[in-house]
Amino acid sequence: MISEEFEFRAPTKLAEALSLLERYGDDAKILAGGMSLVPMMTLGLVRPKTVISFNHITDLNFVIDAKDVIRIGAMTRHDTVAHHDLIKKHLPLLATAAVGIGDVQVRHRGTIGGSLAHADPAADYPPVMLVAGAQFRIQSAKGDRMVKAAEFFTGLMQTAVGAGEVLSEIHVPKLPAGAGSAYLRLHRVEGSFPIVNAAAVIEKGFKSARVAIGGVGESAVMIDVTKHLSKGVSDQSLRAISDAAYDASGDAYGDLNGDTEYRRAMARVYAQRVIKAAAAQIR
Ligand SMILES: Cc1cc2nc3c(=O)[nH]c(=O)nc-3n(C[C@H](O)[C@H](O)[C@H](O)COP(=O)(O)OP(=O)(O)OC[C@H]3O[C@@H](n4cnc5c(N)ncnc54)[C@H](O)[C@@H]3O)c2cc1C
Repeated sequence: MISEEFEFRAPTKLAEALSLLERYGDDAKILAGGMSLVPMMTLGLVRPKTVISFNHITDLNFVIDAKDVIRIGAMTRHDTVAHHDLIKKHLPLLATAAVGIGDVQVRHRGTIGGSLAHADPAADYPPVMLVAGAQFRIQSAKGDRMVKAAEFFTGLMQTAVGAGEVLSEIHVPKLPAGAGSAYLRLHRVEGSFPIVNAAAVIEKGFKSARVAIGGVGESAVMIDVTKHLSKGVSDQSLRAISDAAYDASGDAYGDLNGDTEYRRAMARVYAQRVIKAAAAQIR
């Protein structure tokens, strides 16, 4: 039960939503899929005076081929991300990440924008956004800016989206021709949050290689492993990547699913596995 009263607004246009956000500032919360906001309100962790639903703003629900990038509207549901032909073709690792989120209800209500704005440290999308070099469009009544994924996640459940602002679109560069990519997650049972997750992109000829790991700090960490793979994948290069993943996970937290050392150990394992899986996809 949500014990606090709040005003509910449901604009149909982004411009109207932005002017409401400007008027209410920190007192307002955006309602996207509600998969995280509603439980937080039920537990009394957030008590917005106004809830602004974005569910009737149909202009924010799209997947568009825009030359080198795929543009995804913030209100696009996880299920659409998981099954959209453009995403499966150009960003298979993103489709893989989306298909594993929660259960069928969560995937049909939850949105990519809501998940990224919520910025859970072990959420499925952030490692993918980092290795793919995504950019985020942030809009307010006063302006419009693009923020790189590496600068978007600013701390534990903190992002570059400020009061009065909204994450409106995600621009994800298509994978370069021939590149290999992969996404893997460690979870207890189907439908549960990742404990640790990892994404990788390796360009053809090992010209560039990146791995990102979630669940091992306040937000996902990315490692440029191009130099480690200069001679391709070998036991030696995988060991070096595993060491780099361990070092990058120094801020790993502990919870009921695993303590700090377990998460760091899994960072080692999943960095190696995701690199091997991505390398196998190079064409
Ligand atoms: C049972 C269950 C299992 C789940 N399992 C997983 C899982 O395995 N992996 C995973 O990654 N996630 C999982 N989730 C979380 C799920 O992905 C949510 O969809 C996501 O965290 C929030 O998205 P939402 O659209 O529901 O946003 P909401 O809950 O509506 O909003 C979340 C927060 O983001 C803000 N917000 C929403 N949209 C925007 C926007 N466009 N711009 C700025 N701020 C915005 C809201 O004000 C709120 O503070 C699970 C959730 C549940 C309930």
